[in-house]
Amino acid sequence: MMKKCFIMLAAFTFCFGALVYAEEVKVFASNYPLSYFAERISGNSKIVIFPEIDGDPAFWVPESADIITMQQSDIILLNGASYEKWQTAVSLPKRKIVDTSKPFRKRLIMMEESVDHAHGPSGDHSHSGTAFTTWIDINQAAFQAKAIKDAMAKKNVSSEGALNKNFESLIENLRALDTEINVIAQGHSKVPLMASHPVYQYFARRYGLNIKAVMWEPDVFPDEQMWTKLEETVKEHPAKWMIWEGEPLQKSVAKLKEMGIESVVFDPCGNRPKRGNFLSVMRQNVGNLKKVFGD
Ligand SMILES: [Zn+2]
Repeated sequence: MMKKCFIMLAAFTFCFGALVYAEEVKVFASNYPLSYFAERISGNSKIVIFPEIDGDPAFWVPESADIITMQQSDIILLNGASYEKWQTAVSLPKRKIVDTSKPFRKRLIMMEESVDHAHGPSGDHSHSGTAFTTWIDINQAAFQAKAIKDAMAKKNVSSEGALNKNFESLIENLRALDTEINVIAQGHSKVPLMASHPVYQYFARRYGLNIKAVMWEPDVFPDEQMWTKLEETVKEHPAKWMIWEGEPLQKSVAKLKEMGIESVVFDPCGNRPKRGNFLSVMRQNVGNLKKVFGD
C-alpha cells in the first residue's frame, strides 16, 4: 500500500520584532472542530467563539444575536464544503471569512443521492450536494488547522513563534491519529461496512474503506421501510458492522445484531462533546474502530 503523506509543515518562521499582539481579537468558529483547532493554535480559548448549538452545527440557523457576534468578530472560520447553509441568508464581511476547506476544494466530494430527512427540531434536510464532514479525513483536518494558523498570524493573534509552536503540537496529535487509523484500516479496503448516516465520505476515501450509508439517526428507531432498505443493501454489501455517529438506541443495536450486524460509534464530533474534547473523542473513535477489524 502506498504510504500516505501528511500535510507538509510550513517553514519555520521566527519573529524577533516587539509586536503588540491583539488581545481583543475575536475568532468565530462555525463548528466544534474549528473552534478546538483555534483554541489550540491561539493558546487562548477566551478569544474563540463557538455558539451553543442544539443538534448538528451543519444545520444551524443563526439568530440575529449570532449574526451580530459573527459580524463583530475579526476572523470568521468556516468549514466550507457547503457546510454553512445559513451563509446565503447572512451578510458577512468577506475579508474576515476564512474558508478552511479551500486548500483542498478540488478534492471535495459531490453526493449523488438526494434524500430528504429530518434532523430533530431543525426539520428536513438533504444530503445532496457537497459532502461536508471534511475533518474526519484527518489529513484534511490538518489543512484546515493550517488555514486557521495562517489567518491568526495575519491578524497578530499571537507571535508567529507561539502560533507555530502551538500549531505543530496540534499537527503532531492529528498526524498520530491519521497514522493510527491508516494502520487499523490497512488491508481492509474490501470489507463491506454500513454507516448510519452519509457523513463518512472523506473518511472512507482517506482510509480506503468500503462504506455504504443509510439515513438513520442514533436516537430514533428506524421504521419498517428503513429496515427493509437495509436488508436489501446488505444483500449486495454484506456488512457485519454499522458505524454510528453517536450512541445508538439499544433497540436498534439488538435488531441489527439479529441480522448479524454489530454496532460501533465513530463520532465526527461536529458539536462540542459532553465530555472530553476533539482529541479524546477521536481517540475513542480510533479505539472503537479497532473492534471492527480485530487486532
Ligand atoms: Zn443528515
